[in-house]
Amino acid sequence: QAKQLGHGRFAHYSRQIAEQTRGRAALLRDLRHAFEAGRLTLAYQPIVDLAANKVAGIEALLRWRMDDGSMVAPGEFIPLAEHTGLMVPIGDWVLQSALADTAWLAASGFPGIRVSVNVSTVQFREADLCERVKSALRQSGLAPAQVELEITESGAMTSVDDALAKMHELRGQGVGLAIDDFGTGYSSLAYLERMPATRLKIDRSFINTLNDPQRPRIVEMMISLAGQLGMKVVAEGIENATQLACMRALGCDEVQGFWFARPAPLDDLLIWLKAHK
Ligand code: C2E
Ligand code: MG
Ligand code: MG
Ligand code: MG
Repeated sequence: QAKQLGHGRFAHYSRQIAEQTRGRAALLRDLRHAFEAGRLTLAYQPIVDLAANKVAGIEALLRWRMDDGSMVAPGEFIPLAEHTGLMVPIGDWVLQSALADTAWLAASGFPGIRVSVNVSTVQFREADLCERVKSALRQSGLAPAQVELEITESGAMTSVDDALAKMHELRGQGVGLAIDDFGTGYSSLAYLERMPATRLKIDRSFINTLNDPQRPRIVEMMISLAGQLGMKVVAEGIENATQLACMRALGCDEVQGFWFARPAPLDDLLIWLKAHK
């Protein structure tokens, strides 16, 4: 009986794995088609400067709507792209499109806005990353200081020396560097100290738990740490006035979140910007 049970369980698991594999293969095929057909889009979320009380920047976020109208979350398809070689061409497209869109915004009456582009570890390992950034800058005509690349801590850590060398080269070009999702990765303070980053993005998980007694103190320490290292701070995932007031009181430089605006297509962002000038 035990044998039977074991066999049944095995059959169940292998069926599950086969279904998952089939599912992933189908999803990958759809993703490749969507990308090649130009059906991936970018949504933009404003980033607000608290002292100046105005929009300092926007973050570009990938969106994929399937033929049946349903959305696939980046958290689902980006890892897939990363494991299959699609991330480099997609990431390159994101970089060029986000910079071109920001140049268009500048021409539409919003010249001072910075654009933040998420860069995958996989792109960071490419030898010509800095060249690709340079070429996107040239094509868009944006000033390097208007562009910031967001890197996740864990991501950049795979080959520390190589990652640091590229970060220094990018900084040399004048491009900003933000550490995304700070506090969630394999943060090493020694590494953080060596990173020529210009900004630290406090992860949403610290913001939506600000009610916990210890949390504001931890967040205050992060802001102080950033200050000591000469970095500015952005808080992600501000969803209500209480969280906003708390981050203001803690001396956070910039904030983004649904409380201000959800990520939206470029046209909608322009309407929002005009309404909130
Ligand atoms: P991220 O870079 O940390 O981006 C912020 C995420 O938080 C976005 O999720 C955004 O929609 C969401 N968000 C913003 N404000 C709020 C809020 O107030 N509440 C809540 N609950 N969520 C908020 P999204 O667009 O689903 O993207 C998830 C992740 O996928 C991103 O996290 C980023 O790591 C990755 N990603 C998105 N676009 C790209 C891309 O073009 N390239 C790469 N490499 N990664 C990307
Ligand atoms: Mg980001
Ligand atoms: Mg990220
Ligand atoms: Mg983040």
